[in-house]
Parts: sequence; structure tokens; C-alpha cells
Amino acid sequence: MIDPFGRHISYLRVSVTDRCDFRCVYCMAEDMTFLPKAEILSLEELDRACSAFIRKGVKKLRLTGGEPLVRRNIMSLVRALGRHLKTGDLDELTLTTNGSQLERYAAELKEVGVRRLNVSLDTLDPTKFTAITRWGKLDQVIAGIEAAKRAGLEVKINAVALKGVNDDEFDDLVAWCGERDYDLTLIEVMPMGEIGGEARLEQYLPLSLVRASLNRRWTLDETDYRTGGPARYYVVRETGKRVGLITPMTHNFCESCNRVRLTCTGTLYMCLGQHDSADLRAPLRASESDALLEAAIDEAIARKPKGHDFIIDRRHQRPAVTRHMSVTGG
Ligand code: SAM
Repeated sequence: MIDPFGRHISYLRVSVTDRCDFRCVYCMAEDMTFLPKAEILSLEELDRACSAFIRKGVKKLRLTGGEPLVRRNIMSLVRALGRHLKTGDLDELTLTTNGSQLERYAAELKEVGVRRLNVSLDTLDPTKFTAITRWGKLDQVIAGIEAAKRAGLEVKINAVALKGVNDDEFDDLVAWCGERDYDLTLIEVMPMGEIGGEARLEQYLPLSLVRASLNRRWTLDETDYRTGGPARYYVVRETGKRVGLITPMTHNFCESCNRVRLTCTGTLYMCLGQHDSADLRAPLRASESDALLEAAIDEAIARKPKGHDFIIDRRHQRPAVTRHMSVTGG
């Protein structure tokens, strides 16, 4: 699949559910209304859609959400998708998770072919953790991360940088990850979805400031390491582990975008930061053959936009994109 700007589309992110057992303050409102079941693709439909993308050249598949591991029977989908790893049609199957269910699933994930996981963890302070996630327990997540490590999964920690919330903790996170052999990625908060009380302007912390503060304690060596994602990586000389910075707000990373995103309702977003989308549920449900589905995918890729235009400032208090990250999948 090649888009109008000559970019090869080889990475699909799939949000398998809009539900989550946490309510992170920057991601969701506390009283979210979730989608009715009829609108959600069944696990078999998700498998059909993913398999069509793999036939068309997707090499890397990431399951996300909402929280992917709270979807009932999710392991049957992960196991089914694992068959594409065995044939070599897919290079990598991975997940982004909040870690709350990893104690239960880590060993099985490894067994079906998952090698790496991204686990979201914004703070190492139990009280702050519950304040940020509203419903989460830090102990449970740490136990999940440890279970993943024991199972032989490579863990990368993702932390969203939040002004006045975890901006005193980045050194601790770098040290903690270094001691445990995890890479760390810091993410700028993006203006997605109405989130209630907290204003974006209050949360937004440019990573240029974070980098300057990390430089005081750590030696960050530039590297051209890429994971196929938008992070720019540095190696922390003192720990040997990588720190990635994802800066959608201060650095436009769209030129090398190789990805599209499918929601649990079968809506395909060709850009995280744009409204334009394609409905894949209707062609999926219209016939048992995949011909309509494949035609809809081709049509969508042909209109992948050049890039996004996120702005957070005093004149733009509304979210740039009204859907929540939990809908499109982070
Ligand atoms: N539940 C899983 C998790 O916690 O990783 C997967 C879904 S979550 C939406 C994926 C990632 O998006 C998380 O790392 C989360 O912190 C991040 N995220 C959510 N809302 C965001 C926002 N407005 N700006 C930046 N990152 C956000």
C-alpha cells in the first residue's frame, strides 16, 4: 500500500475496544459513554480486517484500545493473529496496555508470538498514580510489568509528560527503567477529546523542556534507532537504555508516517490528528468475501492526508480532534 505522498503503509494499529478499566485524566472523562455492542466489530471481524491489511502488506500490527486486555476473549484474537507470524507474513504483533491485566496474560502473550509490549506508566508514586488514572492501582501494574519480564517479553514504558503532575519524576523514571532494563518513551499530551475539568493548557509540557532537564543529570547520546514509530531515541549513557521522545506538538513527524488506525467499530483513520476516515464495517458485513473490504482499504489509503496540525494555545481551548485517544487507539 502506497499513499499519495509515496509513503509505504506497513503498520496498522487496532483499537479492539473503547472500554478501559482506568480513566486517565488526560485521556477520558470520568463518565464516559461507551459504544453499544452492535457497533463493535466481533473478534472474528477484527481478525478478517487485520488479515486483509496483512495481505496488503502490513508487517507490524499493534493492538490497543481502550484497554485491549479487558476485551472479553481477547486472547482468541491474539492467538489467531499469531498465525501470520508463523507464516512470516507479519513481522511483529504487539500491544499497548495499561498493564493491569498482565499478570494474567503475559505468559500466554509470549506463547502466541508477542515479543514486545508497551506499558503505559506515568508515575511511580502510588497516590499520584491513582490521581492520574482515577481508578488504577500502581501495585497491580508493577506486578503486571514484572510478570511480562518474567515471561520473556521486552517491555517499553510509555509516560505522558504532564505539567505539575509528573514533571518532577522524569529522572526517577529514567533510573527505574535503567535498573530494570526497560526502554522509556515520553509523550507530549495531545489535544484529543473532551476530558472534563482539566484544561489542556494546564497539562501541556513541551518535551524540549523535559529534554533540557534530563540533560542536567543524564548524558543522552543521539541515535538513529527507529521502531517504525514517531519517537526520536537517545541512549542514556549511564544506564545503556533508550529514552524516546514523541513530540507531536513541537515536532511534526508526519513525513515518515507509515501507519493507519482502525477503531473497534471498523472506522479507519488515516491520520491520528485528522477527521477524515473510511468505514470498513459496512464492507466487512456486506459479504463473506473480502473483495469489498479490500476495495475500501485501497480507496482509504489513496486519501491518506499529508499530516496533522495539533495546536494547544490560548486561542484553541477546544480539542483539535473531538474523538478521544481511547477511540482511535494510542
Ligand atoms: N489502555 C492502553 C494504555 O494505557 O496504554 C492503550 C490505550 S491508551 C489510549 C494508549 C496511550 O495513549 C497511553 O500511553 C496513554 O497514556 C496515551 N494517551 C491517551 N490520551 C493521550 C493524549 N491526550 N495525549 C497523549 N497521549 C495520550
